[in-house]
Amino acid sequence: MARLHEYAFLVGEQAIGELETLASRLAGKTVLNVNSTAVGGGVAEILNRMIPLLQELGVQASWDVIKGGEAFYAVTKKFHNALHGGHQEITPKDYQVYEDTCDSNLDRLTLDADIVFIHDPQPAALVKKRQASRNRWLWRCHIDISRPQPEAWEFLKPYVEKYDAAVVSSPAFAQKLPIPQIVIAPSIDPLSDKNRDLEESEARAIVEKLGIPLDKPLVTQVSRFDRLKDPLGVIEAFAQARRSADARLLLVGGSADDDPEGAQVYQEVLDRAKGNPDILIRSLPPTSHVEINAIQRVSALILQKSLREGFGLTVAEALWKGKPVIAGAVGGIPQQIVHQHSGVLVHSIEGAAYWIKQLLNNPAYARKLGENGRERVRENFLLTRHLKEYLLTFLYCLKGAGEEMVRL
Ligand code: UDP
Repeated sequence: MARLHEYAFLVGEQAIGELETLASRLAGKTVLNVNSTAVGGGVAEILNRMIPLLQELGVQASWDVIKGGEAFYAVTKKFHNALHGGHQEITPKDYQVYEDTCDSNLDRLTLDADIVFIHDPQPAALVKKRQASRNRWLWRCHIDISRPQPEAWEFLKPYVEKYDAAVVSSPAFAQKLPIPQIVIAPSIDPLSDKNRDLEESEARAIVEKLGIPLDKPLVTQVSRFDRLKDPLGVIEAFAQARRSADARLLLVGGSADDDPEGAQVYQEVLDRAKGNPDILIRSLPPTSHVEINAIQRVSALILQKSLREGFGLTVAEALWKGKPVIAGAVGGIPQQIVHQHSGVLVHSIEGAAYWIKQLLNNPAYARKLGENGRERVRENFLLTRHLKEYLLTFLYCLKGAGEEMVRL
């Protein structure tokens, strides 16, 4: 795993020095992160890198995962969909399952770190037993809660209000809350196996080993098999574009421990793609970081046709690799893609089909979009910027009562 100073060639020595200065004010402080899955999805992806780097900086960061049964994850997936604005039937029994799982985790977890940093709605209710003023509690919301189903938000909100502050990924995600809200965009790690440079020959060999032929341009979407990522819409858009552009579609997914719908959606996708030799579906284990890296690199185009999205890390990953990206204009995606500058934003299947054709038939323009996309990520969405904003947030949380600003 890369050490902090190895990032200097990308972000400059000064940025690393700033991190060290900020972290020196947090030396010995404990920060416990809690989320709902150790593997799969963007949150686990970020925590895997954030924790070792915080530790290297002298912050005593740790990470724990709540434990829940099948019923709990079925309920929290409903919450997830409802908070993203979809309609869900949430029953009194569902709320009870959520509360009971939270209580059993409270018996198991020790939540006495200086900062308890809770990620997403699944473990949000752990705050109910916090002892006022003993330590600081931060809620990190990675999803777009700007237009939630009211009942789901009304249930969650009293918990959120018990935190000292909430962190959201985009200004558009802020909610009406009596606690401070801090906007911090997520990031990618440019030196991780998922994003580090690969020689073209190496990337091609890795992809061919997965049985993915490279005789035609690849149009790829990398995503958990989740309806909000619209895999069936991707297949339809590709089928429309395919009439005037020769290419292959690749849908790569995996599962996340906290997503019980994955197997069902995967089956729907297989059924829809059946009999079409130009559509490839691959389910890869969650440790397939180099494989995803290679797949993104050999692709001619990357799609992320989400219907709802948190930040959308896969978009940043593809842009960093200089790829032209066609993505739904939802969640944090418009922060990353300036339409027709660092990628293209679409609002429909027809729009996606149109742009697949356009970009496959105009590689020079597609290349320019990719180059601009890489610069946008370099400036805004690399791990070191994210780390700096977390350190500032921790300092802000721990500042003395009545202090207006963080003093360094
Ligand atoms: N990912 C992966 N394997 C897969 C599908 C996704 O490693 O089969 C990774 C992907 O590269 C990205 C993360 O999981 O780093 C997904 O984050 P994103 O914010 O795009 O979506 P989420 O799954 O959190 O909704």
